This record gives sequence, C-alpha cells and structure tokens, in this order.
Amino acid sequence: MMDMDSLNLEPNNNGLNPVPNLEPNNAPHNAPNTKHDLRQYPVYEHFYTWQGEGVHLGRAAYFIRLYGCPQKCFWCDSAGTWHPDYRPAQVQLLSARAIQELVQHNSHPDALVVITGGEPILFDLNALTDALHQIKRKVHLETSGIAPLRGNLDWITLSPKPFGMPPLLEVVRLSHEAKIIVHDLSDIAAGLEALEGLPPEAVIWLHPEWSKSRDKDRTVLNAITAAVKQNPRLRAGYQMHKAYLADDLDPNSDKRKIPLGGNPNLGI
Ligand code: SF4
Repeated sequence: MMDMDSLNLEPNNNGLNPVPNLEPNNAPHNAPNTKHDLRQYPVYEHFYTWQGEGVHLGRAAYFIRLYGCPQKCFWCDSAGTWHPDYRPAQVQLLSARAIQELVQHNSHPDALVVITGGEPILFDLNALTDALHQIKRKVHLETSGIAPLRGNLDWITLSPKPFGMPPLLEVVRLSHEAKIIVHDLSDIAAGLEALEGLPPEAVIWLHPEWSKSRDKDRTVLNAITAAVKQNPRLRAGYQMHKAYLADDLDPNSDKRKIPLGGNPNLGI
C-alpha cells in the first residue's frame, strides 16, 4: 500500500504556504500528546468554502486536500495531486497540529472539515482527526475506499472507481453516502456493483462527470434522470461549488487551470 514515504516528497521542502509557528510555547493547551503528534501529511491545498456536493451540500467547510492518488481517473478534477505534468514541484508536509491551527484560524468554529484528495485513505488519519475533534470540528472524508480506514470520521463519502481499484468492503460498510461519477452510461451499473454492502440508509448519488454536466449532448444527464426515476434510492447530483466558483474565492485554493484528468482534450 502506498504511504506518505512512497510519494517522493522532500522532507525539508519550503512549503507552498506559510507554516504556522509550532514552537512548543505556542502549542494549544489541549494539543495531542501522543506519538501521533509527529505524523505529517502532504497537503496539496487547503481552503475555506462550502461543501458543494452530497447530503451536506451548502454547509460551510474547510477543505484539506492531501497529495497523491494511484487511481488516475482520466477525468479527474484534481489531477494536480498526481499527474506528472501538473503536480507541483513541492508539496508541504504539515503536522496534524499545524493543520488544526490552519482550520481554527481560517474558518468559523461551526464549519465542517472535509479531508479529500488525491486519495486521503492512503494515510493514517488518526492524528489528524483527533486534532480536529479537539477543536470540536466534525470531520468528513471523501475517498475511493481502496485501503483500510485509519481515523475517526464523522461522515464518509465513498466514490468508487471500479475501473481502477475498487473499494474495500470494510470501507463500503462504513460509508454514509456514495457518489458514482457518470461519464459513460455503464458507470452506473459498475458503480452500484462496487457498492455491494453499503448500509441501506446511505444515500447513493449519481453525479454527471463535470465535462458531461455541461455537454450539449444530454445523454449522461438524461440517463441519470431515468435511473433515479427507476430506482428512488438514487439521487441526481451536481457539483454546485463549481457553478459558483466558490473554492476560487479563497486565496489558498489552487487557481491553476489544470485540464480534467490532465488531458487538454477533456477541457477544464
Ligand atoms: S478523481 Fe479522485 S480517485 Fe480519481 S484520480 Fe482524481 S483524486 Fe484520484
């Protein structure tokens, strides 16, 4: 299994963003005091916005996007986290406490925290989720479920990528909602098959892949509509934050125009 050490990140890099002062005298009184303190995470970007998808749509949320993903979806909208042509030269390694401080200083105390990627389930998230719970935040995870979960999450959104590595059953069983990205019509059946074992109360979203959501050819959108009408457990979804360009309003979000999947032919 890939872990942080296999990402070829320079341990002493100059970060892309300023690192909070972590001298012991500045540590919060309730800071974690375990060996987990020492764990660092490769943070590709972090920004305050709102959750643009799923059951928690529209809620204020601080996003932590971790670097690295082996799935290489050809329509990936976060290709800067893995594509050789678009990944940054350096990725900042931040401790759980440093991320805790970023969240605390840059977002409302009642805002959610969403850990996303890349593929965040590759990392042991225990130190990070503990640190965020210490400041009373609800912590959500967005994952394709390809590795055992390490961390205490309040909400898990599973987005299976069955054409790559399918999700582990143990993660499927823990998930609160699922999101099937529909680029081809066959993605709906393949996604549902990968979700065998999902708790019955978990919502299943069908999201048009972003280029398809704006396509004049409405085949994918119409197929989602038909599927929802046929099976009311399914819900039609959309990436609402992209319509608002909400993430771009935070100065820390990545503003580079990276094509979907890193492929210029697919557009942005
Ligand atoms: S869409 Fe998600 S799972 Fe697929 S390559 Fe991008 S970050 Fe990885």
